[in-house]
Amino acid sequence: FYADVALAAGTSISLPEQTARHVQVLRLQPGERITLFNGRGNGEPGSEGEFDATVERMGRSDVDVTIGAWTATAREAARAIHLVVGMPANDRMDWLIEKATELGAASIQPVMSERSVLRLKAERADKKVAHWRGIAIASSEQCGRNRVPLIHEVATLGEWLKKSTVETDATANTANTGMRLLLSLQDGSRPLAQAVASTALTSFTFLNGPEGGLSPAEEAAAIACGFSPVTLGPRVLRAETAPLACLSLLTLTR
Ligand code: SAM
Repeated sequence: FYADVALAAGTSISLPEQTARHVQVLRLQPGERITLFNGRGNGEPGSEGEFDATVERMGRSDVDVTIGAWTATAREAARAIHLVVGMPANDRMDWLIEKATELGAASIQPVMSERSVLRLKAERADKKVAHWRGIAIASSEQCGRNRVPLIHEVATLGEWLKKSTVETDATANTANTGMRLLLSLQDGSRPLAQAVASTALTSFTFLNGPEGGLSPAEEAAAIACGFSPVTLGPRVLRAETAPLACLSLLTLTR
């Protein structure tokens, strides 16, 4: 169970509302043992793992637990994969978030671009992001990840490119600035497998378009911001399939 609170062995806590609701749905009884994680490890930087816990009391709407031992358990992918996704409409984005979480994505940035079918005003975008974060939590619990991928606020592609360029500039001297890859159907794109074959980099950012693709101007802007165009082959994959294919290639082969 994901519990968005500080966790420490030997302490007793009342579970956050959302976690308590989940425990109650499963009709657990006092004395039963559960596993808790909060995505922050045991407090030490970079630690990965989970806490054993025992249900002490099941109230009407609250659940008290005692937190037991910490077990270091590495379940994250060896490569950090960040997805910048031209959001597909309907429930396809929900599906993408669920599957990308299972496949080990480190973060997902939903973007609106010129040809996006799904256009969200601020209030609706906030609700959608909250909904997607819930899906990422449920999917992490289901697949046994003890970290939840970061789901960023919705941005326009232009805004995101501008901001990410500034962030990249600020960290340009760090050892691993990662590889930026644009999923493109344009002639001349390099096959993805070839582009990543001999790299020692462990951080990758993929940008893909929505149903209607990215416009030539948007692709040019991405390339100007350091993205290299890559192809996934001669078939046109749906907007939610393309990033999942990249994740599979990079997280399951190392
Ligand atoms: N008609 C649109 C076009 O020409 O761009 C198709 C868009 S496709 C449904 C959605 C996105 O998935 C594309 O913008 C691209 O980023 C990615 N994509 C789909 N198939 C791909 C492939 N074979 N190689 C690289 N990227 C692909």
